Amino acid sequence: MANPVSNNHYDVIVIGVGSMGASACYHLAKQGHRVLGLEQFGITHELGSHAGQSRIIRKAYGEATVYVPLLERAYQNWATLEAETETQVFFKTGMVYFGTSDSPFLQTVKQSSKQYNIPLNQLTEEECRKKYPQFHLPPDFERLEEPDAGFLTPERCILLLVQQALFHGTTIKTREKVIHWNYHKGNVTVTTDRDIYQAKKLVVTAGPWAKKLVPKLASKLTVTRQPLAWVQPKKWTAFAMEKFPCWLIRNDDHDFYGFPIVPVGQFGGPLGLKLGMHHPGGEPTDPDKVDRTPRAKDEHALIQFLNEFIPDGYQNTLVMKTCLYTKTEDEHFIVDFLPGYDKDVVFATGFSGHGFKFVSVIGEVLADLINAGSTNFRIDFLRIDRFD
Ligand SMILES: Cc1cc2nc3c(=O)[nH]c(=O)nc-3n(C[C@H](O)[C@H](O)[C@H](O)COP(=O)(O)OP(=O)(O)OC[C@H]3O[C@@H](n4cnc5c(N)ncnc54)[C@H](O)[C@@H]3O)c2cc1C
Repeated sequence: MANPVSNNHYDVIVIGVGSMGASACYHLAKQGHRVLGLEQFGITHELGSHAGQSRIIRKAYGEATVYVPLLERAYQNWATLEAETETQVFFKTGMVYFGTSDSPFLQTVKQSSKQYNIPLNQLTEEECRKKYPQFHLPPDFERLEEPDAGFLTPERCILLLVQQALFHGTTIKTREKVIHWNYHKGNVTVTTDRDIYQAKKLVVTAGPWAKKLVPKLASKLTVTRQPLAWVQPKKWTAFAMEKFPCWLIRNDDHDFYGFPIVPVGQFGGPLGLKLGMHHPGGEPTDPDKVDRTPRAKDEHALIQFLNEFIPDGYQNTLVMKTCLYTKTEDEHFIVDFLPGYDKDVVFATGFSGHGFKFVSVIGEVLADLINAGSTNFRIDFLRIDRFD
């Protein structure tokens, strides 16, 4: 397939080189395609969905058991990237899940573990208090522990994927915004604010901007602003990586999650104990007009949560940031061909705040769809026509 006609002609153009686009470029280039990746900002930036030092990766999946085979492959692909680049991106800290036993999320965590033999420990109140004294939980909460979970370093993952894509011959253009694209009989034309490019196939991985580039997605996606905080705990060492796991607590309709404190010498900033709120959803926003000023009410909700469930976790706030979710109605991703384009246009979006752990496999799936028009991975539940 690699047969350049002129400098602006490619086999595949990838619009958006953030999380999923970096992985698509990597997998397509490894398979010998002549790839152009177009990114409106830089390779890693704070204006989309991937910034902020860490992303949880877990396999006993509470969102739906059907994701587990994809996760198994994602773990393998992260390990391959680590081996190829001799760089660690996955840090196995273990993860705890706490909530009432009637929580559908916790039920599905247990179901995923059972169905796919994923190690999961059910801790008694006493065991949990001994092992994780940092948490103060109501007696009726279930206490689950997934030892093989941990976190990924998103900026480093993306940089390594792009580095490897470049190594395999991909062209990456940064600070170049795609204004529009069109398709005519097997030819894609992409117009940016600097140039015009052509290709046989197109991949759209534009994250929060996807609905601006693909009008068919407009009614299916909502972009929300999600607050994150890094705080100084009362006892710094009690929350260090060796002692404190990744965690998720579901209380009523609220989901909070967090990480251990990571050494900034190894991981870079921000400094402190990181946590965020997953539910209820953040405020809808336009990705080009996001108000990134921290809101007092968001900070208050995070502090109130820490005071109740992790009382030694809060002394004062060090950093607050705003990140973007791109949510679908059912909070499952959309990974599919764009209907009406002869399987020449594929897209992946709507990762609804839980997509990063899948980055390493979604790139492979997109490359399969481009190469063969199909994939052996089960992605039927991610089709766009489920919303029709
Ligand atoms: C606060 C927060 C916490 C999260 N925590 C977790 C977690 O713990 N675990 C987990 O698995 N997931 C987590 N996620 C979700 C995960 O980070 C996202 O699902 C994932 O990063 C989405 O990737 P993406 O490629 O769709 O978007 P992005 O990474 O934002 O990439 C889209 C890219 O497209 C570019 N682009 C868009 N339009 C254009 C254009 N017109 N021209 C050129 N370039 C363009 C953008 O600039 C951007 O770089 C979290 C997300 C947030 C916001």
